[in-house]
Amino acid sequence: MKREHVIKPVLDHHYPTIQYGKGIYLYDEQGKAYIDGCSGAVTAGLGHGVQEIIDAMMEQANKVSFVYRSQFTSKPAEQLAEKLSDLAPGNDYWTFFVNSGSEATETAMKIAIQHWQEKGRWGKNKVISRRMSYHGITLGALSMSGHVLRRRRFIPLLEDFPVVMPPYCYRCPLGKTVGNCQLACADDLATAIKRIGAEHIAAFIAEPIIGAAGGAIVPPAGYYKKIKAICEQHDILFIADEVMTGIARTGAMFGMQHDEVEPDLMALGKGMSAGYTPMAATLVKDHVMEPILNGTKSIMSGHTYSANPQSAAVSLAVLTYIEKHQLVSAAANKGSYLMNGLSQLADGIEMIGDVRGKGLLLAIEFVADRTDKRPFPPGLGVTSRIIENAFQKGLLVYPAAGAIDGEGDAIIIAPPLIISEEEMDQLVRILAESIQEVMAEITPSTSEEI
Ligand code: PMP
Repeated sequence: MKREHVIKPVLDHHYPTIQYGKGIYLYDEQGKAYIDGCSGAVTAGLGHGVQEIIDAMMEQANKVSFVYRSQFTSKPAEQLAEKLSDLAPGNDYWTFFVNSGSEATETAMKIAIQHWQEKGRWGKNKVISRRMSYHGITLGALSMSGHVLRRRRFIPLLEDFPVVMPPYCYRCPLGKTVGNCQLACADDLATAIKRIGAEHIAAFIAEPIIGAAGGAIVPPAGYYKKIKAICEQHDILFIADEVMTGIARTGAMFGMQHDEVEPDLMALGKGMSAGYTPMAATLVKDHVMEPILNGTKSIMSGHTYSANPQSAAVSLAVLTYIEKHQLVSAAANKGSYLMNGLSQLADGIEMIGDVRGKGLLLAIEFVADRTDKRPFPPGLGVTSRIIENAFQKGLLVYPAAGAIDGEGDAIIIAPPLIISEEEMDQLVRILAESIQEVMAEITPSTSEEI
């Protein structure tokens, strides 16, 4: 095995080499086309090879590609920070640029802790998250993630942060039914705060729609309003992890806008530069920055590549492109079309338990039995079989960790926001074949094993 192959996630697996991408398609060296049905990792929202973005990157490269952020700022970074604040709810966010979603959430955690320290409240340094959540892979971000599989090996190194029940209505962890629950999962946050003591808690972090740790799980109406009120009541900052939901993906610029809630901090990544360069950010409300501006006057974090002018120029061009082509409303409309197509699939395929999501962040959960929602046994590898089968047929979809503490099967479907109706039809057709073939393969063994 060649040494450079260690970059591959599974070392003995064959990965085709991608030659180029155009629109929703990626092409490998043999000329095989793949529909990018999940925008890579829910990232390449504008599709591949968009000339305006490439031009913006080249134009900035011809001026300057790198300045050290401790000594200089740059026009693209200044304009991008202003643009993000204009777009964000309440229009009063500061921007702290980083390079990945994990850095964005971890920085949000650090800024939340620093905020309380500047106010003299040094004990407030825990972050509460939810049992089904993913906020990143670094040790800080993983400490506040409920993603069982990604945490498992590193538990001795992680902070012992509390987790609360997720708003997972398909299988309510509190045994409630939709419309008749009084949002008991939100009350679980209040219970945890009382148990731990608000004097120890800096923040609560949540994804507006749960992504990798369950698959496009949309909370019930009113959930986030209640969460925000509980946070305010107990002097706890609310961090929205918009790494997957942000930048038009769900049919709003930010996922939290669906719920008309203004988070104290927001973490952005992925779609911010649509996969053209690494770029991510932590957005911080004025009132969170205030004690820091009156105190230390500096955020105790930072990375060499933060606010990189070239990435900032790309990100600005991405936001301009989204506005010019009205991709926020496109995500909402196309999302309804695709949701309709996937729901029709569910009518004919028994193993589809749930089709859910918002805008172009959709998911399918698979079950061994629709009536009791029983999951497939973990050893069957249903998710990976479906993903692999679709891959062979030229369709890329994204795995979600099983919703039940890592068990269970779900895939995310989140194509570029520029996808056409014909392309969505093609996506649904290939996905149907891929699922049906896997269902035919596993049905006999499933009934034996259960
Ligand atoms: N938060 C969320 C909600 C994510 O989906 C991800 C990535 N899947 C991250 C954080 C981490 O982002 P990155 O992989 O860029 O570090």
